Amino acid sequence: MKTIWRNTILRWLIGLAACITIGLVLGHLLAVVLLYVLGTLYWQFYQLYTFHHWLRHSGRKAPPETSGIWGEVFDSVYRLQKKQRKSKRRMRQALTRIESSTAALKEGVIMADNQGNLEWWNNSAAHFLGLMRPVDRGQAITNIVRNPDFFRYFSQKRFGEPLVIKSPAKSGVYLEIQTTLYDKNDHLIFIRDVTRLHLLEQMRKDFVANASHELKTPLTVIKGYLETLSMFKDSLPASMQKGIVNMSDQSERMEHLIEDLLLLSRLESNDKREVDQWLKVSDLIQAIQKMASPILTDQHQLTFDIPEDARLYGSFKELYSAFSNLVVNAIKYSPDGGEITVMWEANEFSGVFSVQDTGLGIEPRYIPRLTERFFRVDKGRGSKTGGTGLGLAIVKHVILHHDAKLQIRSQPGFGSTFSCHFPASRIRTDAFALESDTEALKSSD
Ligand code: ADP
Repeated sequence: MKTIWRNTILRWLIGLAACITIGLVLGHLLAVVLLYVLGTLYWQFYQLYTFHHWLRHSGRKAPPETSGIWGEVFDSVYRLQKKQRKSKRRMRQALTRIESSTAALKEGVIMADNQGNLEWWNNSAAHFLGLMRPVDRGQAITNIVRNPDFFRYFSQKRFGEPLVIKSPAKSGVYLEIQTTLYDKNDHLIFIRDVTRLHLLEQMRKDFVANASHELKTPLTVIKGYLETLSMFKDSLPASMQKGIVNMSDQSERMEHLIEDLLLLSRLESNDKREVDQWLKVSDLIQAIQKMASPILTDQHQLTFDIPEDARLYGSFKELYSAFSNLVVNAIKYSPDGGEITVMWEANEFSGVFSVQDTGLGIEPRYIPRLTERFFRVDKGRGSKTGGTGLGLAIVKHVILHHDAKLQIRSQPGFGSTFSCHFPASRIRTDAFALESDTEALKSSD
């Protein structure tokens, strides 16, 4: 590189020296030197023009033959262009391979920007959601998948758990949607056909619901006969008397089990839910207080700290089941002398219903499993207390229906606190209710 520059400058200086000599000989030094400088300038402009022309019109062809520094410039640019074209071709090939492999995937793949507007999707995604190219490009995904659960999942970015919805394009097809955020919060959405799994799960739910329902009638008959037998208990031998008491206890347990199984089935089938409404938390607590009084012993101290004006948006029946399960558990798993506090606390971000006890407590390793069906920390403890092992599974479902979170804090020997955290959208106070009612009245005027 350096040699070329040295040679070019040297050649120009030799030319200049020759012109000076000729100018001196002819007696027109200035004119000859000016002519030389203008000639050199013309040559440079001409080369620049050729270079520009080659770049614009025939950059792919070999550069025009020229020597010196311009020859070097032409060759370097040509070599750089060739290299760039090669890497571009290689990248295009890799992209085509990625595109054709994702197009062949059975799972649907969608790329959407950070607002959820569709950018790219594969054939399976088009098939599952009925997407059409190019009309749907740039459309918001929530405009295409018009499903309230999906809208909530996507707009509130609840991407921790996959969501199962009905396909908007194929009837009878169930889809599992999983979303990951990447780069600048862009969305990568995977869609899987889970129809078979969904139907199996539905069959399981139906079986449990039907079996529980069918068991109700024979159990009512058995309970009826047991009650009649109990009336004549005293005239029966002692061994029979014990048997009748035992049978009555067990049939009672079985009845609770069936009731809990039926309640869980109802909670699992979303379509049978009653409409949510604004409830007074104190009304709920009053009903729970009434239910709890027969099972409370003198040895337990049950305190309620619930503001009168607290309101919660939800289903009375469901919330009653969840909250009463927590209160009954606190009583069941607190030995004599136990203190139980039921509280409602709210701020601008959330409302928290909590049940705190000074009972047996739970080892940390069991806490993640507590909401599983039939899970009991101590099987013996469960049967003694008449528990079904379904109470916290019911609580979990109710909590999910109310967009809330269940938090369990416990220490063996020191008691437990079960708290349900409701989002701000589901809580308010009477004062706020009055304010918004007045606002509504004013605006209707
Ligand atoms: P169960 O009908 O057996 O009470 P749950 O689903 O309500 O079933 O509770 C599951 C298990 O969690 C219980 O068997 C018990 O071991 C434990 N548990 C629940 N609440 C408490 C509590 N307040 N204190 C200690 N252990 C508890």
